[in-house]
Amino acid sequence: MSQQLSPAAVAPELIRLDAKARDKADAIAQVAQLLTAGGCVAPGYQASMSRREELANTFLGHGVAIPHGLGEDRHLVRRDGIAVLQLPQGVEWNPGQVTHLVVGIAAQSDTHITLLRRLTRLIQDQATLQRLFTTGQAEQIVAALSGDTASQPAAPASDLAHGFSWTIAYPSGLHARPATRWAEAARRFVARLQVRAGDQAADAKSLVALLQLGLRQGDEIVVSAEGQDAEAALAALRKAMDGLILQEKADAERAAQRRAAPVNGWTPPEAQAAIVGIGASPGLAIAKVHVLAGAQTEVADRPTPLGEGGAQLHQALSRTRQQLRALEDDTQRRLGAADAAIFKAQGALLDDTDLITRACQLMVEGHGVAWSWHQAIEQTASGLAALGNPVLAGRAADLRDVGRRVLAQLDPSAAGGGLAELPDYPCILLAADLSPSDTANLDPQRVLGLATAQGGPTSHTAILSRTLGLPALVAGGADLLAVAPGTEAILDGNSGRLYLSPSANDLAAARAWIDEQRQVREREAQQRAQPAQTTDGHRIDIGANVNLPDQVPLALEQGAEGVGLMRTEFLFLERSSTPDEEEQFQTYVAMAAALDGRALIVRALDIGGDKQVAHLELPHEENPFLGVRGARLLLRRPDLLEPQLRALYRAARQGARLSIMFPMITSVPELIALRGICERLREELDAPQVPIGIMIEVPAAAAQADLLAQHADFFSIGTNDLTQYVLAIDRQNPELAAEADSLHPAVLRAIHSTVQGARAHGRWVGVCGGLAGDPFGACLLAGLGVDELSMTPNDIPAVKARLRAAALVELQALAQQALACADAGQVRGLDGAGA
Ligand code: PEP
Ligand code: MG
Repeated sequence: MSQQLSPAAVAPELIRLDAKARDKADAIAQVAQLLTAGGCVAPGYQASMSRREELANTFLGHGVAIPHGLGEDRHLVRRDGIAVLQLPQGVEWNPGQVTHLVVGIAAQSDTHITLLRRLTRLIQDQATLQRLFTTGQAEQIVAALSGDTASQPAAPASDLAHGFSWTIAYPSGLHARPATRWAEAARRFVARLQVRAGDQAADAKSLVALLQLGLRQGDEIVVSAEGQDAEAALAALRKAMDGLILQEKADAERAAQRRAAPVNGWTPPEAQAAIVGIGASPGLAIAKVHVLAGAQTEVADRPTPLGEGGAQLHQALSRTRQQLRALEDDTQRRLGAADAAIFKAQGALLDDTDLITRACQLMVEGHGVAWSWHQAIEQTASGLAALGNPVLAGRAADLRDVGRRVLAQLDPSAAGGGLAELPDYPCILLAADLSPSDTANLDPQRVLGLATAQGGPTSHTAILSRTLGLPALVAGGADLLAVAPGTEAILDGNSGRLYLSPSANDLAAARAWIDEQRQVREREAQQRAQPAQTTDGHRIDIGANVNLPDQVPLALEQGAEGVGLMRTEFLFLERSSTPDEEEQFQTYVAMAAALDGRALIVRALDIGGDKQVAHLELPHEENPFLGVRGARLLLRRPDLLEPQLRALYRAARQGARLSIMFPMITSVPELIALRGICERLREELDAPQVPIGIMIEVPAAAAQADLLAQHADFFSIGTNDLTQYVLAIDRQNPELAAEADSLHPAVLRAIHSTVQGARAHGRWVGVCGGLAGDPFGACLLAGLGVDELSMTPNDIPAVKARLRAAALVELQALAQQALACADAGQVRGLDGAGA
């Protein structure tokens, strides 16, 4: 750890005011001379400072530079010290970068990190900094550069000019999701905003600083502000804080209900030593354990010039943001909105200026960008983990998770691929902690249960395990990691116990219990397996939205009768290169094989809008949702379209029962052009005809459904996009999320017109947007005449049950009523009345 730089190190005699320098070399020579004269360094230090400049830029920004010697020349440092050369007229440090304060550093260890932290803060205080450039009083410079305390967040003695008191009313305390909303609300204003609890204060615009306060329910805080829009900022922040109370309470209640759910207690017949943690996801698993190594990441420190390092970090951060958006999107579609919010909150962690500043400080000091980033993440995460608050410990895991993603961009060799090393046999995975993104991607065939040494039941890993139906325990302690790999074990996710080397009797009892549970599940599955047939005998086909072959079994188990939407862009989004024709072909064949003759609708790449693929390096668009997206991109990029179509026709030639669907169709000529390309490739490959359909997701397509139906074999309505385009509401805008309601009568009318257009030509119509997975929405869609509904697998049982309980004639009447409603609220009011 860094020691604190002694205040005496910034001595007035080492400050030269009103100096002049011919150039940068002269400025370095002068500051080195000051250090030498002050007895801090031996004469060779000046040369070392100059050499450092060749390797790394020490311009910190805003008129400040911090030249210092190379690490290998530390022996030239006699005592720690800082010399300051004030250059009111400035000197050009690098082209376009003028320095007014040259802060020369002599340090034997890493003591000057403290100074850098101080300087970085100072740089944000432009008024003080400008004063220092011309002041005639050395004491002002001494005061500004001295007396910084270690790594604690600043703790101002008093609140800012305006403010209010508030008591934390969130049962789970100020955790990442509400803190994100606070910081988002605060950042909309220029005023300085601060949250103080006791003698700890945090910048309200900094997510990490807010989390570091470790606020729990009942804690008293003072929120204060100063600056031009301080009053408005306080009002907005308060509104955001109050507005979250109900939701936080409801979430906590749901979590409590889940925790209190009856434990089908299983106890081993023979007393067994067990590692005891907290049950995080119910169920029993029997398997050999696999201990996940590599929790410690080794990152090489390869110095990078500061400018280059900054650009690399910037790029890595923006790529990671894109990845997280894709992951959020995929998780939303696969597991639901609540799980997807985890990755949204993770994305917000990347906007934290403290974190980025900390990484930059280390880079300025001459460390490599990957190393600096890793250190910044570790320092912050350890700080959060050390507060003894389980909620914050969970956020530390999130921070490390996003940190690792950024690190993988900066230095792929350092990021480690823990899960790549899973054994061939199914196992119970033991890990210090597991990142949410790794958990979301676990293969339930290979990992039967999960036990982590750290984490809490509210951690995102635990939430995801429950969604995946994976028995899990958390907070099992370090003993877990000492278990010999390959040891046979029984994991009980209800009681949070891991029984090691169980006896034959224990194993038999556990197997019997698992069997019993399976039978219960099978009975449920049989219900789910029933068709969605209304009481008057009308059947609606039920598909699942699934992107990968290994997700198919889960979908079938939930009652899917096929795949109504395979979003192929996800083959591109979560990786750094474009899958070639052969790889795509293998995936489509595997998908068809997993479906075993059931229908498969493969959507051609829908890239653009919210689905940006970094490695395609597409031009930036001001308004990507209205830009070159979906079919528009495919028609412009045969290099993307044709390998995909060839892969699909080759799969069809091999017997795959598939249909091809094009996204974002707006006009008849687009569809005719795409059909032409399909036919040309099909003939070249001597492949069979396959149905070619289109997504109806823009109003133009709904309005011209009758004309499009002449050229399309089927329609599938994308209510997510249709809603955003009909209502002119960005589907990602959280502010308008409640208003982006697919039950809006205008959206239902667009669906109605689509069905009528399709009917005129005997085409069938599906819906694969979110409305299909809402039981009431599904009733309306069936009433409007939709033939197929495709949804997130988890939504299937409830939708089927609701449709099976109603008669088609009732649903048709309900749909007519809905079409006549004035707004979405009125449509919702019909729920319960007719279906
Ligand atoms: C839709 O827009 O409803 C749809 C299913 O497509 P995506 O959500 O992938 O844009
Ligand atoms: Mg869409």
